[in-house]
Formats: sequence, C-alpha cells, structure tokens
Amino acid sequence: MFEKYFQEKKSLRVMNIESLLAFNEALPQEIKLQTIEDISVMLQFFHDIREILYYNQEFLNKLIILDLQWLADAFKNVITDKNHAEEDLLEDASEWDKFNETGELSVELLSAIWKMNNNGYIEHKDEIMPYMEKLGLLASMDDQFQKWYVPCMNKIPFHTGSFTDYPASSIICYMFDVLPSGIFQRLVATCMQIPWEIFSDGDRGCIYQTAAVFVLQDQHHNILLGMTETEIQLQVFVTDGEVDIATCQQIKETIDNILCNLSNTFQKNVKFHVAFKCKPVGFCDSEKSAVIIDSKFTRADFQCPSCPARRKHKIISKDITKYWKKEQQQKNVDKEGNLTRPSTEFILNVVSRKLHGIPSSILAASLGVDMEENSPICIEEDRFRILYKWKCKCSSNMDHLKELVKILRENEQGEAADYHKYIEQIEANATKIEDRIYRALLKTKEECPNLCRLDICRALKFIERNDVIDELNAQWES
Ligand SMILES: [Zn+2]
Repeated sequence: MFEKYFQEKKSLRVMNIESLLAFNEALPQEIKLQTIEDISVMLQFFHDIREILYYNQEFLNKLIILDLQWLADAFKNVITDKNHAEEDLLEDASEWDKFNETGELSVELLSAIWKMNNNGYIEHKDEIMPYMEKLGLLASMDDQFQKWYVPCMNKIPFHTGSFTDYPASSIICYMFDVLPSGIFQRLVATCMQIPWEIFSDGDRGCIYQTAAVFVLQDQHHNILLGMTETEIQLQVFVTDGEVDIATCQQIKETIDNILCNLSNTFQKNVKFHVAFKCKPVGFCDSEKSAVIIDSKFTRADFQCPSCPARRKHKIISKDITKYWKKEQQQKNVDKEGNLTRPSTEFILNVVSRKLHGIPSSILAASLGVDMEENSPICIEEDRFRILYKWKCKCSSNMDHLKELVKILRENEQGEAADYHKYIEQIEANATKIEDRIYRALLKTKEECPNLCRLDICRALKFIERNDVIDELNAQWES
C-alpha cells in the first residue's frame, strides 16, 4: 500500500514527512501504522530496497526522496563535462574552471549550473545538498552552506615526496581486489564532515586528486590519506615530537568504520584486507617500499619478501604493526600470569557447541552476519564460524561475551530460551578452564608421544596464551 503511494507521488521527487503522516492517519484503523516507530521501520524497509531514500537523523529525517534517479541526475549535472559547461556558463566560466581544478563549488556557481538544465533542483537545493553530503558525494566547507567541496572534480596532482621530512608512523594499506570507483573521494568528504580540519600549505588546503591531509582535533597529529590503483593508504605524522601509538589506533578505527560503511553502500561484496608497507617511507610510492599483507607479520622479524633482490632488508614486525594493532593477549592474563578469563575464540568455540537449539540461519540473522554458502561439515563448525565472523566485525575493545548474551536474550524465542545460561556458566567457570587445558595437554602428550613442541605451541596460541609459550621457549633454550 505504501509502495503504491510512493509510486504515485514519485513525480513530486521529494516529500515532507508530514504528508506521509497525514496519509497514514487517513487510512482505515485496521491497516494504518500505529506508532512513529512503525513508520520509521517501514521507511527503513523502502530505503533498503532502494525504493526511496530516507535517513532517520537530524537535518535529513523531515524529508523523503521519492525519485532516486532525479537526485542522481542533480549530481551528474553538477559534475557536467567541460565542453557542455563552457558553452552555457560563459559568465561564470572562470569560476567553473576553478571548480574543475580544485573541486570547490560556490552556491552561485551551483545555481548557474543547475539553471542550464533545471529540473526542480534549485527549488529543492536546501534539501538535496544534505542528502548528497550524507552520500559522501560532497562536503560543505562552511556553516552557512554557501560553499562545498566536490572531491571527484579535484585535479590537483599529489607529489609523493611532499610530507617525508616529518616524524611519522608506519604506513597501513587497505587493499581492495578492485578499488570501488569514488570510494576514496567519499572517504575524504566523510573525513571533512567529522570534522577534520584540512592541513594547510600557505593559503591553500592540502587536498589533492589522489591524497588529502587532515589535522586531528588535538592539533598535533596529522593524517595523510592517499590512493593507488588498488589501495587506500594511511600514515600519521607530527611536525614536532613523536607520533603517539594510541592516537594512531584511534585514527585507524575511525577510518575502518568509514570504509566499512562506504563499502556497504557500494555493493554487498566489496571486501578489503589490511596490509602494511615494508618501510615507514614510500607513501603511495611503490618504488620506495612494498606492500605486504598482514598475515606475514606473525614472526618477530623476517626478510622483506617483496623488495627487489639488490635492496633486501630486514623487517621487525613490531616496529611496523605497533601503530595499528592493539596488543590483545595480555588482556586475559593478570600480573602473575594467571588466566583471568579465557580467550574469546575459546569461548565462542564452547558456545558454538552449546547452542544446539538454534538453527545457524537464525543465529546468523540475530548477529547480523552473512552465512557461508558452502556449509562446513558439522553444524558446530558452522555456528563457530558465524560467531567468529561476528566477533571480527565488532570493535576489539568490546566485551564480546556480554554483548553476545544481550543479543541472544533480545532474540529469545521458544525452546531457545535457556541458551544464555550456558554462556554465563562458561564465564563463571573461566578460571577452572586453565586447569582443564593443562590436564588435556598432559593427557594428549601421554597418548601421542610424537607430539612436537610446535603442536603444543599451536594449541596454546589458539587460546591466546602466548605468555606460556614464551615461558616454555625460555626453558627449552636453557
Ligand atoms: Zn621491502
């Protein structure tokens, strides 16, 4: 019924939320939506299936965009090609040239561009622009909404050696199979909205076609973002003093979140992997250093696998990864080295075996993760993978167990009503688990005399007891 209503009103292009509320109010009692939450859920649904555009947040939630193509055309018009623009914009030609070089768009030029082919854009300007900003197509550059930055119009070249003289972190790379077109530009527009101030070069801002430099709110750390054909790179530098590691990790978390949101708005299956440059130099410059995937950094040090034969060098993993990865293993162990709680993986493994009342599909839906297409051999493994995927999706600072209990409780139904108790039991038994692990290892060793040190270490690593591995190594060496 609402679908038909939206279709009928599509020629209006946009609609006030009040009109929709009035329409709902006039419906017969048995079919009308009863609460504002119901209406919000309905709007979210039609937004998700791309029938309308609606964001339930300040400045945007008063309005529903009914015609998505119309909004897309409004933006296409702004970034119109040069020939077209020069013919029609003679009076504003120099202004347009500046826009076509820097991406800076004034409200006057915007009106002039839209006047050429006005399709209701000018009348709805105040409504269209916040939506375009929300979509990451542009960012406003002042509080009065008189000037915007449109990243895809920026043609200023970035010189890779520009910021190499400052103390800096290592370089982290977000690797995509294919970099989705526009994702870097949207990342920059979104960073401006945080707002992160743009690093200045005299009276110009350091914002280029393939790179952008921002100043963190602390006015000390600066953030260098750049793109290559397949990666987005990030480096943090200071003009004085030292780069703070915790600050880098916070910046990474911010960028992670923005990229996850952006890649979801492109296609469902856009995935990226984390990698690092083999040296702290060579930002967006493949001549000076190479990109090495995260999983290679498990050894304390190793020889660079990617630099050319005549320029081989040693990589000390910690020097590169310390800026971006939190040390996690310590969390589960107190000062005396006693286990205070088991590792999250270990708990998820136990939980996956206890949740037998719940079909994998329901578990996946409750946690908001996709199911794997090729299901593994057993259902416990299937559930473990769903839980593990969910864990990876969450912030590393989160208390996963608490959150899991909360989610499962919220989704409780019928027979599954008791499963959160299992999890609480596991948590209560946490300290006893260490004892059981030790006995299990001892028994395994008795039964399999061929078990080697590596096997034991692997088992210990699985439960994040690297401290025990270190202790064993020290004993074995002496
Ligand atoms: Zn190298």
